[in-house]
Amino acid sequence: MKLGCFLSNSKGYCHMLKEAVYAEADTFQFFTRNPRGGNAKPLDMDDIQKYNQQAAAAGIGPIMAHSPYTLNPCALRPEIREFTKNTMRDDLERLSHIPGVLYNFHPGSHVGQGVETGIDLIAQTLNEILTPELPVKVLLETMAGKGSEVGSTFHELRCIIDKVELSDKMGVCLDTCHIYDGGYDIVNNIDDVLEEFDKIIGIDRLYGIHLNDSKNQYASHKDRHEKIGDGSIGLEGFRKILNHPQLKDLPFFLETPNELDGYKAEIKLLRSLVENK
Ligand code: FE
Ligand code: FE
Ligand code: ZN
Repeated sequence: MKLGCFLSNSKGYCHMLKEAVYAEADTFQFFTRNPRGGNAKPLDMDDIQKYNQQAAAAGIGPIMAHSPYTLNPCALRPEIREFTKNTMRDDLERLSHIPGVLYNFHPGSHVGQGVETGIDLIAQTLNEILTPELPVKVLLETMAGKGSEVGSTFHELRCIIDKVELSDKMGVCLDTCHIYDGGYDIVNNIDDVLEEFDKIIGIDRLYGIHLNDSKNQYASHKDRHEKIGDGSIGLEGFRKILNHPQLKDLPFFLETPNELDGYKAEIKLLRSLVENK
């Protein structure tokens, strides 16, 4: 099992690596740029080369990059879709220097255009940015179904993947808070949920887990993350998730409301739930 938390990339990759080691994490996640959008800093190749060596030596990774929240591949306004496409393309180009990195994004909100149009626009965006040489896995995040979010059912994610020409580049990241809020009962029926995932998407498309408790009740479609054990999923829920034979070898990423010391404590707590280490 690989377990990590969210870190700020404002001081570069080597700094994130130090923080991950401090938190006793073996992976981490970060925003590719300010979550509200804007330009990314110029790439520091020296930092990246040092990071790649040190991370490999420390056994850290694969790591996950998260695209900014302001992107929307299925926005109504063409200029927002264009901005999204250019930002994602730039992110992928920059990430191609990090071996094994996973690039996670929110599929988007169809803002009244309907789910089918949303799915078409998301796939269209991906078809314009994916290339056969791309070394990065691109992951659709499972969403809670807040507002007009696309991707809150396994079926919608499957439909997007089916429309992507280079679909071998595509995978899924499962967010525990999102799917629980979205109406998949991972607390009482995790086997059934994963069986459904396998039937509809294929379990081999699952590349990572966002590990969050939820502030809201099952099927609330809300999406408010809670600290592990303090929400409606609860410690017993996480014990089942972490030890599930179909999940236990994946990387897990905390996105709970915490600072570094809080993450360190949460990682320790989660490791104590792991059976047969
Ligand atoms: Fe996310
Ligand atoms: Fe998430
Ligand atoms: Zn969320």
